[in-house]
Amino acid sequence: MKLLVIILFSGLITGCRSDSSSSLPPKLLLVSFDGFRADYLKNYEFPHLQNFIKEGVLVEHVKNVFITKTFPNHYSIVTGLYEESHGIVANSMYDAVTKKHFSDSNDKDPFWWNEAVPIWVTNQLQENRSSAAAMWPGTDVPIHNTISSYFMNYSSSVSFEERLNNITMWLNNSNPPVTFATLYWEEPDASGHKYGPEDEENMSRVLKTVDDLIGDLVQKLKMLGLWENLNVIITSDHGMTQCSQDRLIKLDFCIDRSYYTLIDLSPVAALLPRINRTEVYNKLKNCSSHMNVYLKEDIPNRFYYQHNDRIQPIILVADEGWTIVLNESSQKCSVRLENLLPSKGCLHQPNEDFTEFEAGCTTRAHWIPPASGSEGNYTMG
Ligand SMILES: [Zn+2]
Repeated sequence: MKLLVIILFSGLITGCRSDSSSSLPPKLLLVSFDGFRADYLKNYEFPHLQNFIKEGVLVEHVKNVFITKTFPNHYSIVTGLYEESHGIVANSMYDAVTKKHFSDSNDKDPFWWNEAVPIWVTNQLQENRSSAAAMWPGTDVPIHNTISSYFMNYSSSVSFEERLNNITMWLNNSNPPVTFATLYWEEPDASGHKYGPEDEENMSRVLKTVDDLIGDLVQKLKMLGLWENLNVIITSDHGMTQCSQDRLIKLDFCIDRSYYTLIDLSPVAALLPRINRTEVYNKLKNCSSHMNVYLKEDIPNRFYYQHNDRIQPIILVADEGWTIVLNESSQKCSVRLENLLPSKGCLHQPNEDFTEFEAGCTTRAHWIPPASGSEGNYTMG
């Protein structure tokens, strides 16, 4: 059971240079630009990113995990686990036992995160190492009673520059040294939702700013003397598909809202039935030819999305490009996250996000996988 997203770690040991720094612990900076669709790299100009790639390696294939949301995918990247195993199974969750709710604005309860151990915790539990984080999901939460030595409370209004200044300061001047750092930025996801990934005029402007930020990042690392002894991975969490008001799946047409509680909506909806589960399922199963309806136990194995109490009894999976709504007026089409959704004739229809890194000098990532569950493959090199 290999988690392909972890391919992004696979090249870390190439490019090692045997200089005086080899005795120092390896350092890694992991950067995510949210919602960076794979083909942006082909369809738009990225001079700074292309320079970055020239000095390192471009990994062509990184697959998302199911479902294609920000919190679950970011936690998979740093745990090596599918969502059913790390427990962050959606951006909006409900736990029926504790009656707790989770959302992107209510994410600070360690309960949700403690089913896995993220790499910044693992790193920090080793002797003489600390971790630093600039707003990667989960890094402002104590997980297994451990929080990054250096972190920022999440706020989307904090500039990239401030995040970068903090992370480089911590990488440059900390004791014990920061050997693992993360940096998260909301673009191009936010603009992808706003304009749609096919809006070339707006997206070219937004993607130029993303590229400029990558330029700032590299320049700052070089200016501070960090560049030569630091591995940098730039990656993303999922792609982005254009949706349309002509491709809406309207649940109100099929089932009364009083029959279920809606936990999450689209492109994968999660329903908690209030009446007999089979009755809810029967009302929904033929609701749309562009939506698959699954009882929890029938969710296909290839999704690795079944064995967790937080996965609701019924999930609805829209075809790529389709949006699940309650009714036409309840929600407009917003551009959706997309990936690994089954679509006509395909098991998976992944948008391959890009990943590349600058190989400095490191030896081997340290990793303690959990004893069970659908874990990823962390073989290096
Ligand atoms: Zn995202």
